[in-house]
Amino acid sequence: MTKLPDRFTCQHCGKEERVGRWSHGAELREKRLCFNCDFYLSWRDEAAGRSGDMFVAEGTLYAALEEPDGAHGSTLGFGGRSFRIDYLDGRPARITRNLWTQGAVPDEFKELFPDTAVLTEVFLQTTVKGSKA
Ligand SMILES: [Zn+2]
Repeated sequence: MTKLPDRFTCQHCGKEERVGRWSHGAELREKRLCFNCDFYLSWRDEAAGRSGDMFVAEGTLYAALEEPDGAHGSTLGFGGRSFRIDYLDGRPARITRNLWTQGAVPDEFKELFPDTAVLTEVFLQTTVKGSKA
């Protein structure tokens, strides 16, 4: 079996990448993408294949995931806080209680990740037991 080289040049950014011991090194080498480019390009491709639950707001990547049955508080993203997602392409807005972030988009990827939504935290009114209002 021929040993493939540890190092290769990323076809996206031109940086030299070394993938020797990484568990998915072979995959990166096959795609000829460095770790960073693979992460962001995969994210973009996955977001394109899913209807709106992955989006960019103010230069930050987010995913609004399904709420598992019975999930609450710490098992949900942002501790279960509620957020409203207003999509810039005109799709209906939605509320999520299971929002996760992948962090800010680095400058070199900003062009690939324009904002696709506006994110607003929603403070839901809770009904106080026994109140008559
Ligand atoms: Zn790269």
